[in-house]
Amino acid sequence: MNYDIVVIGGGPAGLASAIEAHKKGVSSILVIERDRELGGILQQCIHNGFGLHIFREELTGPEYAERFIEALKAMGIEYKLDTMVLEIGEDKCIKAMNEIDGFMSIKAKAIILAMGCRERTRGAIAIPGTRPAGVFSAGTAQRYLNMEGYMVGKRVVILGSGDIGLIMARRMTLEGAKVLAVAELMPYSGGLTRNIVQCLNDFDIPLLLSHTVTEIKGKDRVSSVVVSKVDAHMKPIAGTEVEYECDTLLLSVGLIPENELSKQAGVEIDPRTSGPIVNESMETTVEGIFACGNVVHVHDLVDFVTAESNRAGANAAKYVIESRKKAFSVINTYSNEGITYIVPQYIRFENLEDKFNLFMRVKKVYHNAKMVVKADGVTIKEFKKNHMAPGEMENLVLEKSLLNESIKSLTVEVIKEVV
Ligand SMILES: Cc1cc2nc3c(=O)[nH]c(=O)nc-3n(C[C@H](O)[C@H](O)[C@H](O)COP(=O)(O)OP(=O)(O)OC[C@H]3O[C@@H](n4cnc5c(N)ncnc54)[C@H](O)[C@@H]3O)c2cc1C
Repeated sequence: MNYDIVVIGGGPAGLASAIEAHKKGVSSILVIERDRELGGILQQCIHNGFGLHIFREELTGPEYAERFIEALKAMGIEYKLDTMVLEIGEDKCIKAMNEIDGFMSIKAKAIILAMGCRERTRGAIAIPGTRPAGVFSAGTAQRYLNMEGYMVGKRVVILGSGDIGLIMARRMTLEGAKVLAVAELMPYSGGLTRNIVQCLNDFDIPLLLSHTVTEIKGKDRVSSVVVSKVDAHMKPIAGTEVEYECDTLLLSVGLIPENELSKQAGVEIDPRTSGPIVNESMETTVEGIFACGNVVHVHDLVDFVTAESNRAGANAAKYVIESRKKAFSVINTYSNEGITYIVPQYIRFENLEDKFNLFMRVKKVYHNAKMVVKADGVTIKEFKKNHMAPGEMENLVLEKSLLNESIKSLTVEVIKEVV
């Protein structure tokens, strides 16, 4: 089998990139999805809040996905469901398999990586205690509840206040469960402010900051969990233990970009994002392999996934049609004081549109701060920010006219307390 572009993953990133590549003139496209339907994680997110930026509407996850699935089908873009990509070999040869076609070798001119993220599990954070049933990652519980029709528990403690944990606190409550508390290791929540208000405060669910689960008890099923306060070094403080009788512990303790395939393909990974290093065109360090969405860095808003994936799709199409401009300049992006990472990790001046985006996360909560962007050490733009938190991705929009071919570095830093 031969295709111009093969997209791995049929979530919002894969769908948007395939559609955009088609719009830019490539018709030989295959989307490969291991699940039974297209749409990715959105299919289990039945709450609203999707699409505010792109459609100016509050859609549910499945509604947002449906718009892209319909467009993909209308364009006649090929896709394979229940199909797992196992390997990306040399010369962009993809090994995949499913029950109908069996084992397949698929040759692509360009590949778009759109495999999303997976959740960290109990093993990854090593909570002491017994190993009873009733410990779920929050996303797994969400899938059981919203797609498979199973209620996962009645008395629930949630560890981790990222968006999935917050959304599941509300969801479990709406289904009749009692959510006793959401414990968060850090002194601030990892989720969006709107989710803290709408999912916890509106339902009187306590958020215990600087707390963690220090023991899981139970033989066949969870019978209780012990929650302790932690000190400034995140070590549990003896004597602060509180035992919560419950049958379920949900873990919302982080997402890991799914990059086993990317690494096999020789794509260089940024240890700060755990995703591929990409340039302004969302091209990885392997020519002709592009990446977008949660596989690159964890996004909180799907609208940004779509915008980024449009860029990946358009540039994959340019690569295939051989209509790319020659680019010689390399401007590396560096995160300075207060910034965890920046995507893209480097940009090439010649390929920039009139405006371009730098995505990043801050290391801690800031009020009344500003973000300063410098080119080769000289300030080119400042952004005043009333509130920033690690749980909310920052998106800085910059004008190409601020740069030139000779610039070598772009840095971003946070300066606190603007008066
Ligand atoms: C609980 C939760 C709540 C959220 N709430 C909001 C919200 O309110 N508003 C908002 O805007 N955003 C929200 N988001 C974020 C948004 O859903 C994600 O940013 C978005 O789904 C990421 O898209 P993606 O395509 O990169 O990844 P995914 O949606 O994860 O899609 C990746 C796809 O790749 C497939 N795949 C992976 N590996 C392979 C392989 N080897 N072979 C074949 N297929 C493969 C997977 O099966 C999956 O379908 C939420 C996310 C979660 C988890």
